Amino acid sequence: MPASDLPGDLDEFLVGHTQELIAFRRDLHAHPEVAHTERRSTAKVAQRLTAAGLRPRLMSAGTGMWADVGTGDGPVVALRADLDALPIPDEKNVPYRSTLPNACHACGHDVHTTVLLGTGLFLAGLAARGVLPGRVRLLFQPAEEVVEGALVAMGEGAITGVDRIFALHCDPRFEVGQVGLRAGPITGACDKIRVRVSGPGGHTARPHLTADLVYALGKVVTELPAALSRRVDPRSSLSLVWGKISAGLAPNAIPEEGFAAGTVRCLDEEAWHQAPDLLKGLVSSVASAYGVIAELDYVRGVPPTVNDGDSVRMLGEAAELAIGPDAVAQAPQSLGGEDVAWYLESIPGALARLGIRGPQTPMDMDTHQANFDVDERAIGVGVRLLAASALIALAEGSASQEAVASTRGAA
Ligand SMILES: [Zn+2]
Ligand SMILES: [Zn+2]
Repeated sequence: MPASDLPGDLDEFLVGHTQELIAFRRDLHAHPEVAHTERRSTAKVAQRLTAAGLRPRLMSAGTGMWADVGTGDGPVVALRADLDALPIPDEKNVPYRSTLPNACHACGHDVHTTVLLGTGLFLAGLAARGVLPGRVRLLFQPAEEVVEGALVAMGEGAITGVDRIFALHCDPRFEVGQVGLRAGPITGACDKIRVRVSGPGGHTARPHLTADLVYALGKVVTELPAALSRRVDPRSSLSLVWGKISAGLAPNAIPEEGFAAGTVRCLDEEAWHQAPDLLKGLVSSVASAYGVIAELDYVRGVPPTVNDGDSVRMLGEAAELAIGPDAVAQAPQSLGGEDVAWYLESIPGALARLGIRGPQTPMDMDTHQANFDVDERAIGVGVRLLAASALIALAEGSASQEAVASTRGAA
């Protein structure tokens, strides 16, 4: 399909489907499902895609699914949405307010799901006309909020054989019609650490005969962040911040154990992979100087989302072609986590920010707030972005496959 047909085709599709998509989003919004319970949402999407002639494949828990549009040996591009809501009350006064006391689509995943459904319906129309140059996988994953769903989906084979993946996330910092892009890290890693120090304990009059545990714990807490900043590239933004510390009961007794707990955040993938071993070494070297034993418990969260440069370029071209010449804005880095990062550790791809701010949006509105809502025009913008990105990626993928095939033929 020549690219010049695309904006017109999208206009026509959205004129015919926007009301249906808004109603679909409002139904999801009124019936939110938290992580790992997204059965109704999964079934609703599967029903609609089946009606459009696609064959959804449900994940084994019944939460999450994928469906392929198009067939053949061409490149495979995945588009990913997340289905889950947050376990917080919905405090908006709107007709589509959550019908459950402690579940709310306050992160916009109802919008992501609806955008991907709309994109799938549009692409299914192209496939039926024989103008889809490859295969597009529509991936609806569960449990993003607990950063587990991507791993579940990957375990079930959701990105096996996929060449590239795109995703978007609602962002109230951008006006509706804008798309925030950034090559390289766009969200951060967030891990948890807990240090336990232990020693024989004793009288505070005779610290030299025992190990001064509280002093040693204080050294661990102050020296670890400082040592870390000297051992890794400052551009990785690896930072350790303590949130909790405890030791001792009496002013004149040296305790036998103490604890400190905090988070490790990071924007660089390599530094993230090295962080546990690095911290383990630093903790024991600081502790051994004071004669205490230190144990580190390092709990992995999610890696940083590192956007592939080529994929970001494709998103930019897609936004200009299908939304408008001024659609692209520069997205800031965020130290928040997003589990799309797991896919991007295996295959190239990118996460875009979808502007959802409209004239009614309060200045200070943010995701995860009980009054979070979107300007629903963002649904059509999202469909334009994902559909055009998939088509651009497929066209480039087929061209490079043909180039490889013709070189082989020439040899
Ligand atoms: Zn969220
Ligand atoms: Zn989210």
